[in-house]
Amino acid sequence: MQAEGILYIVPTPIGNLEDITLRAVRILKEVDLIAAEDTRHTKKLLNHLGIRTPLLSYYREKEAQRGAEIIDMLKSGKNIALVSDAGTPAISDPGSVLVGLAHDNGINVTPLPGASALTTALSAAGLDYTGFLFIGFLPSKKGQRSKILNSLIHSDYPVAIYESPRRISSLLNESLEIFGNRQAFLARELSKRFEELQRADLGTLLEKTLSCKNRGEFVLIICPGIKDEVKGETVEELILWYRDNSKLSLKDVSKRIASDIGTSRSQVYQMALKLWNKQ
Ligand code: SAM
Repeated sequence: MQAEGILYIVPTPIGNLEDITLRAVRILKEVDLIAAEDTRHTKKLLNHLGIRTPLLSYYREKEAQRGAEIIDMLKSGKNIALVSDAGTPAISDPGSVLVGLAHDNGINVTPLPGASALTTALSAAGLDYTGFLFIGFLPSKKGQRSKILNSLIHSDYPVAIYESPRRISSLLNESLEIFGNRQAFLARELSKRFEELQRADLGTLLEKTLSCKNRGEFVLIICPGIKDEVKGETVEELILWYRDNSKLSLKDVSKRIASDIGTSRSQVYQMALKLWNKQ
C-alpha cells in the first residue's frame, strides 16, 4: 500500500524576504506541491528562492472543496506544503479547514515554526503579562465590532488585534470609546522599510495615526485596565466616576456598570440620565 503524504504548514515572510527559515526553504523544495492562498504572490517568493515546485491554489472561498481535493492527493502519497500570502497559514489566513480535514483523515500534519505578525508584535511590545488574547480581525460591521470589544473590557490579558490600513483609525477611535484611554502598543509594517513601534495611550496613537500618511499593516495590542482604578460604592458614585474620569458615553457607562455589578442596564441608564449633566 502506498504511504500517505505529509501536510507541511510553512510560514513565509511578513515583509522581509530574509525571514524564512532554512527548513522552510528545504521543505518548499522537497514537497510535490505547494498549496498557496494566491499562487501569483507565492510564485514571486519561489522565484526569489530559486524553487520550482508546482503550485495549486487554496483560498478562503474554496477551502472545503479544495481541502477535500488536497486530502485525496495526500492520501495518494503526495507531500504538500501549505502557505499563505504572508506569515503563518491558518492564523487569520486560510488553512484551518484543510488542517482540520487532514487530522480527521489521519494524515500526518507537520507545522514549521516561523514568521507571524502576532508573535513579532508581541515580542516587541514589552508587556509584562503571563498571556494574551488574540482576536485576529474584528468583523467589519460596527455593531459586531463594538460587541466584541465590549466583551473584552474585563480581560486580565492584553488583547492583540489585526487591522487593515483602511480601518486602523476607526479601530483606535472605537477602542478609545470603549476601553477609555488605556495603554497600548501599535506595530506598523513589521520587518519592512517603514517599520514603526509605538507604545502610548490609545488617544495618542489615534492622533498620530490620523496625521500619518504612510498607513501600512498593523497589529494593535491593548493593555488591560487598571483594576482598582474605578472608585465608587454606589451606582450613583460609579456613574459620576465614569462621567468625570473616562471618555465613555452615557450609554456605554450604563452598559459597563450594569455588567460589572450584574444589574439591569436600563435601570442604570435611567439613573445616569438624571446625573449626567449635574454639577
Ligand atoms: N497569517 C499572518 C500572520 O501569521 O501574521 C496574518 C495574515 S492577516 C491576512 C494580515 C494581517 O496581519 C494584516 O492586516 C496585519 O494586521 C497583520 N500583519 C501582517 N503583516 C504585518 C506586518 N508586516 N506588520 C504589521 N502587521 C502585519
